[in-house]
Amino acid sequence: VRVALAAASSRYGLTRDDLCGLLDGEPRYRVEQVWDGLYRRLRAPAEMTELPASLRLRLEEHPSLQPAFELCTEQVADGGATVKWLLVAADGSRIETVLMRYRNRVTACVSSQAGCAMACSFCATGQIGFGRNLGAAEITEQVVRAARACEDLGWGRLGNLVMMGMGEPLANYRSVLAALRRCNEDLGIGARAMTVSTVGIIPGIRRLAAEPLQVNLAVSLHAANDELRDSLVPVNRRYPIAALMEACTGYTERTRRRISFEWACIAGVNDRRSDAEELARLARPLRAHVNLIPLNPTPGFLVAGSTPGDVRRFRDDLLAAGVNTTIRNTRGREVDGACGQLAGGGGALRGARVASRP
Ligand code: SF4
Repeated sequence: VRVALAAASSRYGLTRDDLCGLLDGEPRYRVEQVWDGLYRRLRAPAEMTELPASLRLRLEEHPSLQPAFELCTEQVADGGATVKWLLVAADGSRIETVLMRYRNRVTACVSSQAGCAMACSFCATGQIGFGRNLGAAEITEQVVRAARACEDLGWGRLGNLVMMGMGEPLANYRSVLAALRRCNEDLGIGARAMTVSTVGIIPGIRRLAAEPLQVNLAVSLHAANDELRDSLVPVNRRYPIAALMEACTGYTERTRRRISFEWACIAGVNDRRSDAEELARLARPLRAHVNLIPLNPTPGFLVAGSTPGDVRRFRDDLLAAGVNTTIRNTRGREVDGACGQLAGGGGALRGARVASRP
């Protein structure tokens, strides 16, 4: 109960009606002013200098307007183009958010759960186990933090949002959807610039297909036969590949959105020619795009990632088989902020600059 209340009563959990109640007795335009301050200008109440000082102070101290997270550490990698935050909630839950600047866009990768119950063998989050679901306010606050950092760093607008941080987004469906709607309606991030990733929670994929908010779907596939996938992604035992492909087909038919398959390349495990052939057989009918991610090292999974040469060969096999394929740029590896490395521990530092703030 304490956790639910903490999430609901934080700054980005308020509705306009809540804010109306909180500003009772103030001129009506104050509601829009504060809402605008929170979502368009990305300001904390203490920074809303357009408000009278006494009101600012009242809002600043109000329990419902406190942030959900304290910043524990900020780490910078990739020559300043990747920033990772370790955030701590009032109940001690630790989560991580990563902001990445590319040549033509800035993307925030946010967490949907503290820890994860899916236990994918190669993933640091899976290795720490499940803590709890994040509330919509907590997910939204990560995006606001990222958008504000873009502004402060002079990176322009935050344009893209990927739900690929800690946790399985479709196992926390309601909060994830509520946060995506808020980011779309109040932060102005386009639905087509939002991606929800999943290891293949079929009921969640079906629900998402029926939503009016048509976001991109990224399926973390990693193996194209059940035997291998059972060992890498244990949820496959519950939602095997044939059923998952059926759900993906339903998603593309209903939304007209293209699906992507994420594939962490593991040396000798899923980067062989036969793996490319099996993957192509799944991807082609769906016209799915394949993103290859060289496996990032984690302490609990000692198998090596594919060599750059093997990743390129795997890509070429897929391209030759008629599958659109991209090798994803690995970001944040030096601060354990890359795909599969988020563990809520702040990361091993390996030469990254670290700034700690209260
Ligand atoms: S890969 Fe995603 S779903 Fe699997 S354990 Fe890691 S965070 Fe969870």
